[in-house]
Amino acid sequence: MIPFLDMKSVYAELKPELDAAYARVMESGWFVLGREVEAFEAEYAAYCGTKHCIGLGNGLEALELVLRAWDLGAGDEVIVPSNTYIATWLAVTAVGARVVPVEPTPGGPNIDPDRIAAAVTSRTRAIMPVHLYGQPADMDAIMALAAKHGLKVIEDVAQAQGARVRGRRTGSLGDAGAHSFFPSKNIGAFGDGGAVTTDDAALAERLRVLRNYGSRVKYVNLERGFNSRLDELQAAFLRAKLPRLDEWNDRRRIIAARYDDRLADIPSLALPNVPQWAEPVWHLYVVRTARRADLVKALENAGIGSLIHYPIPPHLQDAYADLKQGKGSYPLAEKLADTVLSLPMGPHMPLEAVDEVCSIVRQALA
Ligand SMILES: *Cc1c(COP(=O)(O)O)cnc(C)c1O
Repeated sequence: MIPFLDMKSVYAELKPELDAAYARVMESGWFVLGREVEAFEAEYAAYCGTKHCIGLGNGLEALELVLRAWDLGAGDEVIVPSNTYIATWLAVTAVGARVVPVEPTPGGPNIDPDRIAAAVTSRTRAIMPVHLYGQPADMDAIMALAAKHGLKVIEDVAQAQGARVRGRRTGSLGDAGAHSFFPSKNIGAFGDGGAVTTDDAALAERLRVLRNYGSRVKYVNLERGFNSRLDELQAAFLRAKLPRLDEWNDRRRIIAARYDDRLADIPSLALPNVPQWAEPVWHLYVVRTARRADLVKALENAGIGSLIHYPIPPHLQDAYADLKQGKGSYPLAEKLADTVLSLPMGPHMPLEAVDEVCSIVRQALA
C-alpha cells in the first residue's frame, strides 16, 4: 500500500512542537487575532520576502479579498488560466467580475504569457496566474505584460509555497500573493487557513479591515467587511511547521528527481518539464499519458494511490454552464484534463516507494 499523500507523518515528526503550540494557545485563553497570528504573519512575510502578510480564513477568500480590496466588480475582467483548480475562477466571479480564461503553454501546466496579450481588453483590470502543481508560472513575462497594460497581478500561490523564480519566492513576484494552508498543501494547517503576502502597505491595511467586519477599531465599521481570519491555533501550528518547509520541499525535489530518472524513457509517458528559470516545489508530480485509464487501473491493483488534477476544467463544470463555453472552447486545458495523472508525492514518502511506483508504471505502459 502506497498512499497518494501521507498526512500522518507530520505529527509523528513534529509532535513536541505541535503539542507545545496547542498548549500555548489553550493556556493563553485568546483564540482569534492575537499574538500567534501576528507572529506567524511576520515570520511568513520574512520567508516569502515581502513586507506584509495578512492571515485569512482560507485560500479562496485570500484571492477574493484582494480583488475586493482593489474594488474589482461588475464590468471588470480578470485574466485567469483555463487550466486551474476552480477556486481561482470562483474568487473572480464571487466579486462579480468576469473571468477571461487563457490557455496554458504547450504541455502545461501554467498560463501561456504569449496568449495573454490577445485576451487584454479595455475592461481588463488584473491577471491571476496560478503556480499549478508547485511549478512557477512565467512571472517575468507576466509582470512585463501587466506593466505594459497597466494591470494588477495576483499570484495564486496555493500549491507553491517556497517555490522560486530566479531566486525570488512565489508570493513576492506580483502585486499580491494568495496562499492556502489547506492541510494537503506544502505548508498546511490542521484545518482551514490562508494568507496574502504583499509589499503594498495600503493593500495590507485594507485587507486587515476587510477580514474583520470592515473594522479597524472595535465596533467602528468603516465599510461592509467579512469574517475571514486565520485563527490563533492554526497560526501556532503553522509557526511550528514553517521552519521545516524548505527541508520538506527539498525531500519533494529528491522524489521528483527520482521519478524523472526512473521514468525518463517510456515513450507513451510525458514527464513534467521545468523551465531553467524555475525552482518548483513539487506540490504534485503530474505525468501525462493517452493511456491513463490503463495506468490508473495498474496502480490501483498494486495498492498505489493516484489522483487526477483535474478531471474537468472549470469552463466545463456545471457551475459555469452560464458562460456557455462548451467543449472545444479551451482545447489545451481539455487535453490536459483527459491525460494528466498525479503520482504519489510528499515529504514523508520513502524512496523505495518511489521505485515501486516506477516499476508499476513501467509495466503498465510496456
Ligand atoms: C487549494 C487551492 C485554492 C483554495 O484554497 P482553500 O484554502 O482550499 O480555499 C485555490 N487555488 C488553488 C490552485 C488551490 O490548489
